[in-house]
Amino acid sequence: MSNAENFNDLGLDPRLSPILDHQGITEPTEIQALAIPTAMAGHDLIASSKTGSGKTLAYLLPTMQRLMRKKALNKRDPRVLILAPTRELAKQVYAQLRSLVSGTTYKAALVLGGENFNDQAKALAKDPHVVVATPGRLVNHLDERSLFLEGLELLILDEADRMLDLGFAAELTRINQTASHRLRQTLMFSATLEHAAVNSMAVKLLKAPKRIAIGAAN
Ligand code: ADP
Ligand code: MG
Repeated sequence: MSNAENFNDLGLDPRLSPILDHQGITEPTEIQALAIPTAMAGHDLIASSKTGSGKTLAYLLPTMQRLMRKKALNKRDPRVLILAPTRELAKQVYAQLRSLVSGTTYKAALVLGGENFNDQAKALAKDPHVVVATPGRLVNHLDERSLFLEGLELLILDEADRMLDLGFAAELTRINQTASHRLRQTLMFSATLEHAAVNSMAVKLLKAPKRIAIGAAN
């Protein structure tokens, strides 16, 4: 059960609460109350909870907190990479991220398959702090050296089960190997943790992860 009454109780930067209030978001959901402090403490995490339970903010708020409160580990941006299985989902995540970064100096970029590659390369050349991407196009940018992940501090996989069901295991492995900073933190979200491919990817990507499963037997 959540014992956090509001987002300030989770230790979030106070600049974030008016933005959330403005969106009618006052009380963390259960997954947020558990995942946000775990992520902010620097742990790797594998978490599941049902659709509509607020997983996006469970990782976007720790993303914002890292940008606002922690010095970059490395001069090379991006600091945070968020991967989503489909264009539609990546767009939704990006829209929610934009609502959090607007009014700050932090920059975000969206990298999707099926859109103009050179326009994305130009956006990436402006050194966004956070990139939201689908895995295939992200790897194309690594191949073309329009994106570097050596400075990446936080890697987030949203809907990891769907990404693996869609056949992105090789891309995720490549991204994991490229984002090789020794202090990199990784957060994995999935509709279920009862998924063999998710668990074997978790073994590759995560270091001593905390497990959070809401509404499941595990
Ligand atoms: P999930 O990824 O778990 O399916 P989402 O992150 O897409 O869920 O969130 C579902 C909806 O709930 C979104 O419209 C989001 O704005 C809203 N939401 C998220 N967190 C809260 C909260 N703490 N209070 C109220 N609404 C919230
Ligand atoms: Mg989601």
